[in-house]
Amino acid sequence: MNLPVQTTSLFQRLRFVLVETSRPGNIGSAARAMKTMGFSQLVLVNPRVAQPLQDAEAIALASGANDVLENARIVATLDEALAGCNFSVAMSARPREFSPPVFEPRALATTLSSGADLQAALVFGNERFGLSNEQVEKCNALVSVPANPDYSSLNLAQAVQILAYECRMASLGDERVPSAIGFKGDLASSEQVEGMFTHLEQALIEIEFLDPDSPKKLMPRLRRLFARTALETEEVNILRGMATQMIHRRQRFK
Ligand code: SAH
Repeated sequence: MNLPVQTTSLFQRLRFVLVETSRPGNIGSAARAMKTMGFSQLVLVNPRVAQPLQDAEAIALASGANDVLENARIVATLDEALAGCNFSVAMSARPREFSPPVFEPRALATTLSSGADLQAALVFGNERFGLSNEQVEKCNALVSVPANPDYSSLNLAQAVQILAYECRMASLGDERVPSAIGFKGDLASSEQVEGMFTHLEQALIEIEFLDPDSPKKLMPRLRRLFARTALETEEVNILRGMATQMIHRRQRFK
């Protein structure tokens, strides 16, 4: 089958498939886990709850993610849930004798986010029974969260959260750098930084912290210190203000 090549981001290309889920709360929590990470396509295969989308526990645990819950698609079989996909991933804590290639969540997320032509599905099993061997064998990959080997079975919605998080991290790339959050001023130019070093050196000589006849490594060390900070113009101005004040005070008391 020739599927059209899509270049959309993983947020549009990835669906979360929950197979035969028993607890409506897990469906609601899974919707919330997905939405916090920017995903929205939820498919329920033969849920073992009547009216899962109207269930009070599901709605309560979805919290602000009711839109994901309301838009969830309900289908009777895994084949229907996977229609239109070309890469499906079985989620299981248990290795299987006949299993597709096994990935860790992070490696899988990298594969999914870099494969722009992948229409992907992550398939999660029932809380008690997990996925059947037959369901696992339908998939192209098996992912196990490398948990405590003595107690490796995660809550369904928590398994969804881990995969959604890894897929988000892999997809955002550079945009996820935390330093981009919060106040950020203009970076100082090299002229501004050089002017500051000259000024600071004068002030340090003035207060006799730096001996010009024996400067040792003070200025190179200060340069190294500031080189690690990505100085902003405002910060250069503050340091120059301090240097000015050191020189003035010293001259006043000479
Ligand atoms: N008792 C079941 C576990 C069900 S937990 C079993 O033995 O399979 C519900 C679902 O969460 C699982 O079917 C699986 O899709 C997912 N899950 C739980 N722990 C996981 C883990 N460590 N790695 C990958 N998926 C996991």
